[in-house]
Amino acid sequence: MIHFVGAGPGAPDLITVRGAKLLGEADVVIYAGSLVNPELLELCQPSCQIHDSASMTLEQVIDVMLDSEQRGACCVRLHTGDPALYGAIAEQMAELDQHGIAYELVPGVSSLFGAGAALKTEFTRPGVTQSLIVTRAQGRTPVPERERLSLLAQHGTTMVLFLSASLLDQAQEELLAGGYDAQTPVAIVYRATWPDEAIYRCQLGSLAVCAREHGVSHTALVVIGDVLSGEGERSRLYDPSFSHGFREAEGSDEPCA
Ligand code: SAH
Repeated sequence: MIHFVGAGPGAPDLITVRGAKLLGEADVVIYAGSLVNPELLELCQPSCQIHDSASMTLEQVIDVMLDSEQRGACCVRLHTGDPALYGAIAEQMAELDQHGIAYELVPGVSSLFGAGAALKTEFTRPGVTQSLIVTRAQGRTPVPERERLSLLAQHGTTMVLFLSASLLDQAQEELLAGGYDAQTPVAIVYRATWPDEAIYRCQLGSLAVCAREHGVSHTALVVIGDVLSGEGERSRLYDPSFSHGFREAEGSDEPCA
């Protein structure tokens, strides 16, 4: 059994309890050294064999997994944030399927939510938007035509760009062409939850310049949308005049739904 584990966004205490327990039991760990906090490896036993996948190919990663499976060892594949987002796990799972090797996924705190916490924001603010688009600008990895930023921008939702910090001239142009105003608030969140976390706020019209001025070209998320302005309505859920399954409205005779 191979365990794909989400390491969380950076701060070592943001791994899940389940993920931390697996690291403590692992005989073999393959971790994404470019983004996973190495402090997490202190949870491993001294005898644990540790591989940094930053310098490995998919084939080499699979070889380590096959070898550990043959030896009956416990193998953890440690991915940054949550493995299901831009984790390149699909290709690993396909190989494991071919070899008939079982695996499981242990979720992690995505940097998306590390950024939400850093910004102290609610991505889905009532009266502003009820949707969040998670996407990326097209770089060397192609993005399907129907997901061009200019098309996704038409919805005016909150949007979060992964893997795009070095592609912001083009991204800014497409987002504006798609319909966001140049004044739409934007935040660049660099290394959310790490000790050197930084937040740079600007408007969409100056996004690329802002990133350049602060020297941000990697390990950052870009959050776009009016939720960052702090305006919006209060929720229905905690509104005294709104009944729901767990609370009856004040002054209402109606039974809770
Ligand atoms: N699975 C990861 C994402 C991996 S893709 C997750 O759920 O977070 C790598 C990209 O994630 C980086 O280019 C950057 O855009 C973003 N990222 C990862 N860690 C980050 C952090 N601590 N702060 C800001 N962005 C981060």
